[in-house]
Amino acid sequence: MNEERLARHAARMQRTKTVVDAAIARADKERGVVIVVTGNGKGKTTSALGTLFRALGHGQCVGLVQFIKGTKAAGEITFLEQFGQNVHYHAMATGFTWESQNHEADRLAAEAAWAEARKMLRDDRFDLVVLDELTYMLKYRYLDASEVTATIAARPKTQSVVATGRGAPPALLEIADTISEIRDVRHAFHAGIKARAGVDF
Ligand code: ATP
Ligand code: MG
Repeated sequence: MNEERLARHAARMQRTKTVVDAAIARADKERGVVIVVTGNGKGKTTSALGTLFRALGHGQCVGLVQFIKGTKAAGEITFLEQFGQNVHYHAMATGFTWESQNHEADRLAAEAAWAEARKMLRDDRFDLVVLDELTYMLKYRYLDASEVTATIAARPKTQSVVATGRGAPPALLEIADTISEIRDVRHAFHAGIKARAGVDF
């Protein structure tokens, strides 16, 4: 780059920095947040787990509740079982899978998982609680949306929550501080590529 372009670049970066610094200075509230990761694209659960690992890296205490039947083969779970001393994990042992047609059995399993989640959401030792695939429990009415959202909203001030799943209902979006919608642009599965260990589970 010639000198004039370098100077223009430096001036532009300085203006951006001023705007960003001002925005950072305005953010003066200290509290845990509710993050919803929704949409049809791949990356919701992996995003939630990325946040979980980030929290673990800071020595924080985290809870992970999976509102689908736990897949023992999932790499993240075997990893956490080996190394996640600060992780409290619960998955729906029976019930809801993508094939499930037994609504009553699913509802009971959902209630049991929710009971675990609720304990975490009322315990200020937890810095982060991940509620993976929670949206389906609300969508199919396995859980009462107003009870779920009220419990999340009433969590300890220092606690953050990440909830994932497609089609997040309005009640959940309403209490969220951060909402990311992952768009499905393309997925390998539709080209006939099998789900892969280490990539998809
Ligand atoms: P991931 O766990 O990979 O972050 P996700 O949580 O966003 O995915 P889910 O709807 O929970 O997505 O589905 C989990 C599984 O389905 C993963 O194996 C993932 O690769 C696959 N999957 C996610 N999105 C799609 C899609 N748009 N088409 C086909 N398969 C998908
Ligand atoms: Mg998922």
